[in-house]
Amino acid sequence: MNFELNEIQKQIQQTFKEFVDRKVKPRAAEIDEKKEFPRDLFNEVGELGFYGMRYPENVGGTGLDITSYCLAVMELARGSLSLAASCTMQSLMGTYFLYRFGDKEIKEKYFAEALKGKKIGGICMTEPNAGSDLLGVKTIAKVTDDGFILNGQKTWITSAPVANFFTVLAKTDNHEQLSIFFVPANLKGVIVGKTIEKLGVCGSLTSEVGFVDVKLPKNYLLGQIGGGTKYLMEILAEIRIMTAALAIGVATAAYNDAVEYAKTRVQFGKPIGTFQAVSMKLADMAVQLETAKHYVFYTSWLSENNLPRKKESMMAKLYASECANSICDQATRVFASYGFAMEYPVQRYFRDARFTLIGGGTSEILKINIGRELGL
Ligand SMILES: Cc1cc2nc3c(=O)[nH]c(=O)nc-3n(C[C@H](O)[C@H](O)[C@H](O)COP(=O)(O)OP(=O)(O)OC[C@H]3O[C@@H](n4cnc5c(N)ncnc54)[C@H](O)[C@@H]3O)c2cc1C
Repeated sequence: MNFELNEIQKQIQQTFKEFVDRKVKPRAAEIDEKKEFPRDLFNEVGELGFYGMRYPENVGGTGLDITSYCLAVMELARGSLSLAASCTMQSLMGTYFLYRFGDKEIKEKYFAEALKGKKIGGICMTEPNAGSDLLGVKTIAKVTDDGFILNGQKTWITSAPVANFFTVLAKTDNHEQLSIFFVPANLKGVIVGKTIEKLGVCGSLTSEVGFVDVKLPKNYLLGQIGGGTKYLMEILAEIRIMTAALAIGVATAAYNDAVEYAKTRVQFGKPIGTFQAVSMKLADMAVQLETAKHYVFYTSWLSENNLPRKKESMMAKLYASECANSICDQATRVFASYGFAMEYPVQRYFRDARFTLIGGGTSEILKINIGRELGL
C-alpha cells in the first residue's frame, strides 16, 4: 500500500480545500443558524464535479478513485457537515441505483441532471418502525398489470424537502425480500412532511415522506423484484467509508480550531497550550485523528484494489465516528466557556458530529456485525 497521494488526488484535495476555505467556511455558521439548505453551494459543488466522481465518464462522471472522493468529502465536512451530508447523499445513495438500473428515461432525465446538481435525489429506507432493522420495512408495492401501486411511510429522509426524486426501499406484495423503486417527487400521492428539527447538520434538510396510492410504471422498479438487500450490500462498504470521511472532516475542523485556540488563549501568563493537561489533550486528539484518517485510506486502498473490505469498512466507520465525537468533545473543553458559546463554531462541530454516529449504521450495529465477521 502506497501512503503517498498521487498527483490527481493532491489536486482534488487542493481544489476542495480552496473552495471550502473561500466559499463554505464563511457561510457555515449562517447555514446552521438559519437551518437553510445552501442550494447555491450545493450547485457549486456540482460544478466541481463532486456528484459524478464515483461514476464513469461515459455516463457523465469523472470515474475517480475512492481515495480522491474521500479527500473531497473530508474537505467539505471540514467546512460544513450540513453541506457535506447533502452532497454525499447526492453523490452516492441518492443516485447510485439510478446509475445501476435506471432505463434511458431515468438516466437522461434524472441521473444526468443530478450529476450536475440540477436535480436532487434522496433515498427512502428508514421508516418510523424500521431503522436499524431494514428488513422490517412495511412500505408495500402492489403489483398491477401495468406497474405498481406504492403505499407507505418513510422518515428521516435527507434532502426530501428539496428533492426531485427518491429511491425507495419497499416490499412487493408477491415477494418477501426488499425491492427498490424510482419515484419522482412530483408524482400524485407523494407527500413530503414537515422538516424535522435536529440537533445538528441543520442545513441538511430532513423530513418524512409518505406514499399514498402512488402509481409507478414497470420501468420504475430498479433491478429485480426481491433484489433490494443484495443491491444495498453492494454499496454499503462505500457508504461506510464515506461516512468515516465525513467524521474525519468535522473532527479536523474541531482539532484545528482547538490547536489554534490553545496557542493564543493566555491564562496564568501563558498560552494554555503550554500547560501539560491541555497539550496532552491535543496530542490524544492528533493521534485519534491521524489513526482514523489512515485507516480510512487503507479501506479506500482495499476498495480500489477490489480486496475484501466488509469488516474493514465497518471498522473505519465505527472508529472514525467515535473518534470524531471524542475529538469534538475534547475541543469544546479546550475552549471551556467559549466552547459553550454559540459565537464559536466548536459547539457546531460537537452537535454535527453526532450525525456520524448514526448514518451508515449505529456503533452498536457495527460492533455486532464486526463480531459476526470475526466468526463469533
Ligand atoms: C440526520 C439524519 C439523516 C438521515 N438520513 C436518512 C436518509 O436519507 N434515508 C434514510 O432512509 N434514513 C436516514 N436516516 C435514518 C438512519 O439511517 C436511521 O436513524 C438509522 O438507521 C438508525 O435507525 P433508528 O434511528 O430508527 O434507530 P433504532 O434502529 O431504533 O436504534 C435505536 C438504538 O437501538 C440500538 N439497536 C437497534 N437494534 C439493535 C440490535 N439488534 N442490537 C443492539 N442494539 C440495537 C441502536 O444501535 C440504537 O442505539 C437519517 C438519520 C439522521 C439522524
